[in-house]
Amino acid sequence: MKHKVLRNLSYGMYVVGAKDEKENGCIVNTVVQITSDPAVISVSINHDNYTNELIKKTKKFSVSILGEQVDPKIIGTFGYQSGRDLNKYENIETEDLSGLPVLKDSCGTMICRVINIVETTTHTIFLGEVISSTEGNMDQPMTYRYYHEVLKGKSPKNAPTYVEESTPKKTVWKCKVCGYEVEMDELPSDYRCPICGQPITAFERIEK
Ligand code: FE
Repeated sequence: MKHKVLRNLSYGMYVVGAKDEKENGCIVNTVVQITSDPAVISVSINHDNYTNELIKKTKKFSVSILGEQVDPKIIGTFGYQSGRDLNKYENIETEDLSGLPVLKDSCGTMICRVINIVETTTHTIFLGEVISSTEGNMDQPMTYRYYHEVLKGKSPKNAPTYVEESTPKKTVWKCKVCGYEVEMDELPSDYRCPICGQPITAFERIEK
């Protein structure tokens, strides 16, 4: 089985959220339109994600479509931290759509009612009928390829597309929050992680 071929599948980047007593969300790349009338989409979310638990409980989820100009703080907060430990929406600008928070800056948002659930070994696939939507204020949706190749983002281990990477490098600095790696002798003092926005204190030096 050649895992590399799967990298040629195309994806976007999204924040999927849900709300019970507490609200939570996570970054996913697996939102797909299934039918047009009624408008139904699917999304695949790891069993370990708190958002998965909340969607199963409330049967409702939100989708915010990320743009290429997304604030790195959004990827850092929703992609690499657990909502069991913090309120991810606390320092993020949001708007209310049918009772759920969606990102204020995005390429569009949707609220879905869960109409079916399919379990796999590691992820749950939720089918959701779109019950409301907004168009958003950003033009260019971010693709997963743009995230990897232009922003040099990494896949967290819960992503369906995660594969172990073993590219040999010389001296790299690794962001301890999101896993972003940059090859450089020394980091400039005002350097910030382009993925999650952390300062150089969040980086560790790795010799490879
Ligand atoms: Fe980072």
